[in-house]
Amino acid sequence: MKDKLIIAGPCTFGSYEELYKIAVLLKEKGIKYLRAGVFKMRTSPDSFQGLRDEGMEMLLKIKKELGLKIVTELTTIEQVHKYGNKIDIIQIGTRNMYNYELLKEVGKTKTTILLKRGMSATYNEWINAAEYIKREGNNNVILCERGIRGNSNETRNVLDLQAIPYIKKNTNYKIIIDPSHASGLSYMVEPMSKAALAAGADGLLIETHYNPKESLCDAEQTIDMDTLDNILNFYKNM
Ligand code: PEP
Ligand code: MN
Repeated sequence: MKDKLIIAGPCTFGSYEELYKIAVLLKEKGIKYLRAGVFKMRTSPDSFQGLRDEGMEMLLKIKKELGLKIVTELTTIEQVHKYGNKIDIIQIGTRNMYNYELLKEVGKTKTTILLKRGMSATYNEWINAAEYIKREGNNNVILCERGIRGNSNETRNVLDLQAIPYIKKNTNYKIIIDPSHASGLSYMVEPMSKAALAAGADGLLIETHYNPKESLCDAEQTIDMDTLDNILNFYKNM
């Protein structure tokens, strides 16, 4: 698939079989980056927190067996020490964009960092967070716009597509778009993905499942495989 970074996968997963089935389907579509969360930063402590270390072993097994590159969020310095050099892209979630000690620690690895924008962060705060990582020697930082807080309850967040031209004009960072967490609604993911690509995004991060309803987390914003095909076809024909 051309040159954009297309990352897909479930928000999280509950078993190896579920993850494997998704991974095979994505691989068949030419997707090279599988993203699935194992250390989840859930809003409620009562929600499923991910399979944690056990889930990480499953991700690493998939990497070995299917040759997919693994993207997953790390939330603590200890996790960075344990897994930072084993996965292909470390995601820093929106809630940790201001966690400067964590940023410094991932800056000491050589792994690519996907830095999500804080949900209320200005462009400058976001760029400064990226500089914290770079300052430690890791220049492989990709920014990810995932929606910012707005004033409407009808969508989860507001997708700030203006971030694309801003980051491109004012920095050398690549910027990808996560339309899933931006809207929180699966029917918005396809049009927003197309808009992001048309606006010059360097890639997409899309929550995808063979049966979104089965998804243990973020089910309402997760797209199915046919919708992913529509997005990939749009991309291929650009
Ligand atoms: C996620 O990617 O599943 C996630 C929790 O993202 P964010 O940090 O953007 O909320
Ligand atoms: Mn999610």
